[in-house]
Parts: sequence; structure tokens; C-alpha cells
Amino acid sequence: MVDKDLLSIQEARALVRAARKAQAEFAQLGQERVDGIIKAIADALYAQAEPLAALAVEETGFGKVQDKKVKNILASEKLYAAIKDMKTIGILSEDKEHKVTEIAVPMGVIAGIIPSTNPTSTTIYKSMIALKAGNAIVFTPHPSARKCIGRTVELIRGVLHDCGVCEDVVSVMSVPTLEGSTELMKIVDLILATGGPGMVKAAYSSGTPALGVGAGNVPAFIERSADIEDAVAKIFASKTFDNGTVCASEQSIVTEAVIADKVKAALVAHGAYFLEGEKLEKVKRVMERSNGAMNPEIVGRDAMYIAAKAGIEVPAGTRLLVSDEKGVGPRYPFSKEKLTALLGFYVVNDWKEACEMCHALLQNGGIGHSLAIHSRNEEVIREFGLKKPVSRLLVNTPSTHGAVGISTSLFPSFTLGCGTVGGSSTSDNVTPLNLMNIRRVAYDLGNAVCAAPAQQGYGQTHGQTHGKTYGQAEAQADAASLDVQAITAMILEQLKKMA
Ligand code: NAD
Repeated sequence: MVDKDLLSIQEARALVRAARKAQAEFAQLGQERVDGIIKAIADALYAQAEPLAALAVEETGFGKVQDKKVKNILASEKLYAAIKDMKTIGILSEDKEHKVTEIAVPMGVIAGIIPSTNPTSTTIYKSMIALKAGNAIVFTPHPSARKCIGRTVELIRGVLHDCGVCEDVVSVMSVPTLEGSTELMKIVDLILATGGPGMVKAAYSSGTPALGVGAGNVPAFIERSADIEDAVAKIFASKTFDNGTVCASEQSIVTEAVIADKVKAALVAHGAYFLEGEKLEKVKRVMERSNGAMNPEIVGRDAMYIAAKAGIEVPAGTRLLVSDEKGVGPRYPFSKEKLTALLGFYVVNDWKEACEMCHALLQNGGIGHSLAIHSRNEEVIREFGLKKPVSRLLVNTPSTHGAVGISTSLFPSFTLGCGTVGGSSTSDNVTPLNLMNIRRVAYDLGNAVCAAPAQQGYGQTHGQTHGKTYGQAEAQADAASLDVQAITAMILEQLKKMA
């Protein structure tokens, strides 16, 4: 019997070998042909948006079919519209004036790491952006979403086959284990990793170049000048979309004391239930695992499900369970990322305190990701834009829809960079442009920087460096190195005496 981890490692190697061969051929196709293939994939996967959504919900238990369908459409039809005119293959530009030509060079074989929360949409999106830039991609699925990710890849491979392209440019591991993923990450050319902090760290520790993007813990600040009804309606739309599985969904509301009662009333009118006493304690008990991580049994579920799981009664039609919170940190589960129908609620005195509270919440697991603000005060919005450690400040918009480019002009994406502050090598909404190298062919400008060799002095014996005559600076450096030799000799002499 072969051990599962060995099987998984072997599979990773075999898939990468096949992908490498297929990618070498794929990279020879011109831009037009590649674009035709991407269009065919977009059309085919758009047509399957609903069945794939249903499969993902059935397998993971997370989210809602109609919203996962929207995500699949964003990852196919909408993404195609955003990338169709991008130049990504061959010569990108020829600047005659500055004499530089830019040529796209595919990165090669990419490892695609897929989270359980957006499994089918992220697989469609990563396949399309990888291929658009001339790469192959090998996926390692989240074990709890293996079937729906496998089905998505199967559909994409079918399209590739119909287009007369070797299917191995897109493949997926059928035996995903940590050991297999680790091997995959070692032998590819780039890791495109989307998930929690453990996985992002593993990707960056592999020694392979990586684009790893991690967790969010998005606060939504409702400032005193905001249209409260509009803000609350948008937060509900965002937080209940796919039962809150999107990493950019709101995790807490921060608001000012002067409007807190109105905000609370609007939340209750939309279906929020403020937990207190024993009910709050019971919910806290099912929120987390013993190590403080999110409990997958309540991720991507609606409020009534969580209430039943916690063994509490809430009014019929409750859409969000809210906790009026005072603290932030490991002892306050409502101050962390929840990705379900749970929301923290914080009241502060003014926007400056709100700034600090948002900062503390971001530090608590979502630094570098996103923050939402609802305000009509441009000065406050600008201050937040200038000071907050996030890669997206989402203004007067549902943060889920805003961050992934549905309700804003941000690029449609399921991999949202968190910047270096968030341990990520990018702050972008990742696009095909992040998945290619650019070779620059630079011609001499004819401005004669190469002077003739010097006739005397150091130049005669030591030649030249970078077209400049060997001069004073180098002579000083030599003198300094002589000093070092003299000092070393002195130290050795002292040591001899001491011995
Ligand atoms: P996860 O980190 O548990 O899993 C993601 C993937 O990484 C899975 O395929 C898993 O098998 C693999 N993995 C996990 N640990 C690994 C390790 N040490 N070595 C190798 N592979 C490993 O994530 P999840 O629970 O499915 O997704 C939810 C998390 O992802 C949330 O924190 C959410 O905020 C984040 N997320 C971020 C983005 C973004 O764009 N920034 C998008 C979606 C999800």
C-alpha cells in the first residue's frame, strides 16, 4: 500500500512535469489564439455558473447558491470583459523615442492554492488569468472543496481539448495533502496563494517566488455625516452575500456615539439581533475552535443556523447576530475575522477614536486587507485613505462587492493583495499582469558615456569601471583597505603576545 502523502507528492511532480511540457507549446500561441481560448473558457464556465455554485454549497456547506453563482459569473464573464483587451503575449510595446521594447515572458507553471470559501470562482479566475499570461496552472484544492474544484477544472480541460490545446496547462491534484502541496510549491515557478495566514506563510517559506494573499478583518466605519439607512442597507447586502464568506466582507461596525442609537435602530430594522448575556456566551462557545481559529461548522451559515447551533432562540427572520463589543484581541471573538452571519459593534466618541479602533481591529488579523467607510465628509475619507494600513479603502459601498470589483471600478478579482504590511508581496487585486515577467530590450542612446581609456595614473594599471576612469574614490577605497590590513596585522600581533 502506498502512503497518501507519498501519492500526493508523486502526483504533484507528475502534474508539474506534464504542465511544463504543455506550457512550452501553449506559450507559442499568439495573443489572438490565447484570447480565443480564454473567451471559450469564459463562455463555457458562465453557462455552468449555477451548477458549480450548487456543487460548492453542497460539498462545503458554506454560502448560498444564488450568490456563488454571482461569484462564478464575476470570475468568468466579467473577468473576461476586463482582460480581453490586455496585451499579455509577445511584444507589449515598442518605444521608438526611448529605444526600449517590452516583451511579455510567461512565468511558466503556477501553483494555484484555493480556499474553501470561494472554491469554484477562484479556480475559474486563476485559470483564466494564468492562461491569459501564457502560463500553466496546477491547483491544490482545499480538502473540503475537492469535488467542486475538480469539476471546475474538468470543465476547463474540456474546453481546452475542444480548442485543440493540451489540457495539461490546467490540472488539479486529486490527492491533496499538506505534503503534496508543499512539494508542489517547491517545484513550480510561482505560487498564487489565496487563503489564511498559515498557508500564506507556507507559500512564502517555500523558497519559490510567491504571490500570497491572506485574511481580512474588515471594519466598516459609519461616520456621523453618513446616510445611515444607505450605509446599513449596504452592510447587510455585503455581509449576507454568500453568508459572509468573502474575505472582504464586514466583520465589525464602528460608529460614533452621536449617531449610535440611529445606527442600532437601522440595524435592527434590517434584521440584526443584538446578543446579550447567556445568549452571547452560548454563541461565543460555538464560534471558535479550541486554538482560537474560526469554527468551520459555522462559517458561511445564516444567522438562524448559528442560533440553532448555539442553542438559543432569536426572532424569526433574524439575518445577523451582533455583539455590542468593548474589547479587541484574542479574548474577544467578535473582534476577529468571522466569515459568517456574525458582526461586532463598536461605539466611539469621534472619528479620531474610530481611526484607532479600526486600526486595532485590522491589527487583530486583517492588516493590509480592506476597510470600509460610510461618510459624506471628504476630509475624514482622505485622512483614512492616507493613514490606514489597508490596500483598499472602500467608500460608501458594500465592502464585499466593492473589493472584488462589482460595485467599484477595482479589478474583478478573487485574490486581493494585502501589501507588505499584511505579509503579502502585492497590494493589488491580482490580474494577469501580475503573472508575467517583462523582458526589456534597451538600445544604446548614442550619448557616448564610454570615454577613451585614461593615459596615466591608476587608469593605466587598474583599467576602468563603468566607463569612468579609475580615480580618487577608488584610490581612497584602496587606502582604506590598506588601513584594514595594517589593523588586522596589529591585532594578530597582540593576540600572539597574549598567547
Ligand atoms: P485555508 O488557509 O484554510 O486554506 C487555503 C488553502 O491552503 C487550502 O487549499 C489548504 O489546503 C491550503 N493550506 C492551508 N495551510 C497550508 C499549509 N501550511 N501548507 C500548504 N497548504 C496549506 O483558507 P480557507 O479557510 O479555505 O479560506 C479562508 C481564509 O482565506 C480566510 O482567512 C480569508 O480571509 C482568506 N481569503 C483571502 C482572500 C484574499 O483575496 N485576500 C480570498 C479568499 C480567502
